[in-house]
Amino acid sequence: MLTEKIELLKQWIAESNNIVFFGGAGVSTESGIPDFRSVDGLYNQKYEYPPETILSHSFFMRHTDKFYDFYRDKMIYKNAKPNITHLKLAELERQGKLKAVITQNIDGLHQMAGSKNVLELHGSVWRNYCMKCHRFYSLEKLTQTEKVPYCDCGGIVKPDVVLYEESLDDDTVSKAVKAISEADILIIGGTSLNVYPAAGLIRFYKGRKMVLINKSVTPYDNEADLLIQTGLGEVFKEL
Ligand code: ZN
Repeated sequence: MLTEKIELLKQWIAESNNIVFFGGAGVSTESGIPDFRSVDGLYNQKYEYPPETILSHSFFMRHTDKFYDFYRDKMIYKNAKPNITHLKLAELERQGKLKAVITQNIDGLHQMAGSKNVLELHGSVWRNYCMKCHRFYSLEKLTQTEKVPYCDCGGIVKPDVVLYEESLDDDTVSKAVKAISEADILIIGGTSLNVYPAAGLIRFYKGRKMVLINKSVTPYDNEADLLIQTGLGEVFKEL
């Protein structure tokens, strides 16, 4: 059953040069980055405040020091390396078959694997900006201190990551909508599709080759043209 499904996917990929990949936390779990929304993820661990609160814009503004304690501890995985899924997606792009990777992850692993057109819906831990003068800072700015990172101008340095209460970047969303609406094959992988507004973007797909690869059930399982309920690595190692 699984083998047949993977064979069908391989056939579709072989015939297409307009594939778009839409991924979530499950893409990076095999690189050792935990899915913070999964049952045993950090959302169920004990902190002074719930992670959804800590990772919100108002909390960042009010308790910047506590935000950074949590953020450094739980959101930054500097030594993580791309896994087979990241690498295969980059290869498909080099072959001219894959047009875009749309990701909800903030770990930068797609770029590290060699992907060029990566649309990061939720930003990236690798980019940080001064809130006052908008000067760019690399991740080192956050990791070389245990305190709140400040710019030379006195402004607070904030990660280029979309926090709760913040909206997605318009330009990134437009590009994602365009890529999805024009795609021949849409491969959705490693996402439970219940984080909005990101998950709603797959609604823009108009084709008939929607592939859904996820270990657990999603609200879109019935709409998939090809549903593969397993880990991404299991599938991508065969491609
Ligand atoms: Zn500044």
